[in-house]
Amino acid sequence: MIAKNIKILLDKIAEHCSKIGRDFNELTLVAVSKNQNVQEIREAYDAGLKNFGENKAQELRDKVDLLPSDIIWNFIGHVQTNKVKYIVPSASLIHSVDSIRLLEEIENYAKKINKRQKILLEIKTSDEATKYGLQHEKDILASSEFCINSIHLELIGLMTMAPFVDEEKKIRDSFVQLRKLKEKLNAQGFSLVELSMGMSNDYLWAIEEGATILRIGTAIFGERIYN
Ligand SMILES: *Cc1c(COP(=O)(O)O)cnc(C)c1O
Repeated sequence: MIAKNIKILLDKIAEHCSKIGRDFNELTLVAVSKNQNVQEIREAYDAGLKNFGENKAQELRDKVDLLPSDIIWNFIGHVQTNKVKYIVPSASLIHSVDSIRLLEEIENYAKKINKRQKILLEIKTSDEATKYGLQHEKDILASSEFCINSIHLELIGLMTMAPFVDEEKKIRDSFVQLRKLKEKLNAQGFSLVELSMGMSNDYLWAIEEGATILRIGTAIFGERIYN
């Protein structure tokens, strides 16, 4: 079933890209494998996916050793500073960095293991209280500058989560905000490339608004079972 879901999903993404004139190869699909077991992840890997996303530090650490070493691991969950040590060794990209305190912690740990850690800044683009992320422009700018001045941090883009609502306009507004913020930062001398936005319910809109990384779980693995 997972292989079939992936085929349907990739076909939809490719079809939508050609409809709106975007290059399918510009997009990275991150399969959000939180709460999925190793067999399920293996099935998605065997179906051709290489990028996986986890949102709990220990779950990431435990899965890494049980799965193929060429998997590209993404960390997409809220990062607690005391969990950085579980994330930095294995995450190719951390999507959810939202404070200078955390940037410092990641810089220090990456230095310790002699790694340059790719990161995205998470931006809060809706007023939902449950969402994390940087919100004020001066904080976003200060965080971006912190990265430039940190040898072991490589800031490559921005990430957001759209609000959990049905209205297309509110969801698109989130994505547009993120794209405009990237353009604004780049106009100020930063070189951000990636926009991580779009989940199972809104990825087609995200593609239209400029997403370069899609984070999709349910459409690949089915509904998550929480114990
Ligand atoms: C769970 C999660 C996703 C995937 O959500 P789906 O609706 O299952 O596609 C994407 N991004 C983040 C940050 C998540 O926590």
